[in-house]
Amino acid sequence: MSAGRPVEVNGRTYRWPDRPLVVVCVDGCEPDYVNQAIAAGKAPWLAGLNGSGTCLTADCVVPSFTNPNNLSIVTGVPPAAHGICGNYFYDPDAKAEVMMNDAKYLQTGTILAAFADAGAKVAVVTAKDKLRGLLGHRLRGICFSAEKADQVTLADNGLADALGLTGLPLPSVYSAGLSEFVFAAGCALLERERPDIMYLSTTDYVQHKHAPGTPAANEFTGMMDRYLARLDAMGATVVFTADHGMNAKTDAFGRPNIVFLQDLLDDTFGPGSTRVILPITDPYVVHHGALGSFATIYGGDGAETSAVAARVRAEPGVDLVLTREEAAARFELPPARIGDLVVIAERLTVLGTSATRHDLSGLDAPLRSHGGISEQRVPLIANRPTAAALPARRWRNFDAFDLGLNHLQ
Ligand SMILES: [Zn+2]
Repeated sequence: MSAGRPVEVNGRTYRWPDRPLVVVCVDGCEPDYVNQAIAAGKAPWLAGLNGSGTCLTADCVVPSFTNPNNLSIVTGVPPAAHGICGNYFYDPDAKAEVMMNDAKYLQTGTILAAFADAGAKVAVVTAKDKLRGLLGHRLRGICFSAEKADQVTLADNGLADALGLTGLPLPSVYSAGLSEFVFAAGCALLERERPDIMYLSTTDYVQHKHAPGTPAANEFTGMMDRYLARLDAMGATVVFTADHGMNAKTDAFGRPNIVFLQDLLDDTFGPGSTRVILPITDPYVVHHGALGSFATIYGGDGAETSAVAARVRAEPGVDLVLTREEAAARFELPPARIGDLVVIAERLTVLGTSATRHDLSGLDAPLRSHGGISEQRVPLIANRPTAAALPARRWRNFDAFDLGLNHLQ
């Protein structure tokens, strides 16, 4: 135990918090969601930070997906260091396509666990359960998901009753209520347990359906604003960021722009010659049909990587095709966990495997998604001003703990 002393994690040093620090990762929060809600008068607390707080625009990790970015934020380093570069990947050892939500794929410790080990009281609340195991890896503290709030135990989650904590019913996994539950739990925990460090992570169900400035989007930001104001009133430092942005992926008629990469490559090189992996894939795909703007391709037999790259590059809607080495260097990714090629679509386009493998029947609104460079800009906001002139650097969303602990008044 070294309570009160700086904590070093993954090569970075963090000051001990002199008041509770709450880092909030709002899933899919394009900066314009905040801007538009403020303009509509729906986010008075966030509006009031203009002048009294800090507002930066930061870059998230590409692929601009949920798990790589949440893990970057809680470790303070990019996927090349922590290893989580997708929700889903091709495990060459197992020769199988698998979810990457098992903590065995995490290669570094987290800031959360390090502070807990040093004697801090730490709490984590996430919307979807898929993140809980990774965020709570080796964490001595409170860690649970809104999705399984009815199943918490003191032994597994550090808390005996999560529904009683909030007074809210168990929310549906496809609802705005899943994220509201995270905030309600965060406020109740701050009041009751007064953790030194708390991490709250929401879900992008609303952002996948509703563009910035629409009534539902403003309502959602307004809901967050009320809870954030309560955290602030209880004396917490609040740092607000996002795992990634969000864009419409449609043409002017609202029809999805999709490049089905596996179909394209099967037509050109023959079935079985390549394997397209979409790291956005996870158990919850109703709201985006597993379509995002990032894909990786494994060359199999009979297709030269350079020929595959040339074919994909020629396809309208494709922004960038990089080799494994180029992608690993540019996006700080673990080379062993991506394919021979990385493909990024331009802003209005998503990448699929085969048309027959995507169920779009659950899409009840024009497709909005993420994954590319076009969703890389995210807000990095704090409720206190900076202590001194900030270092001139490319701010990342995974600087959230650094900002909150090392750079604010
Ligand atoms: Zn996300």
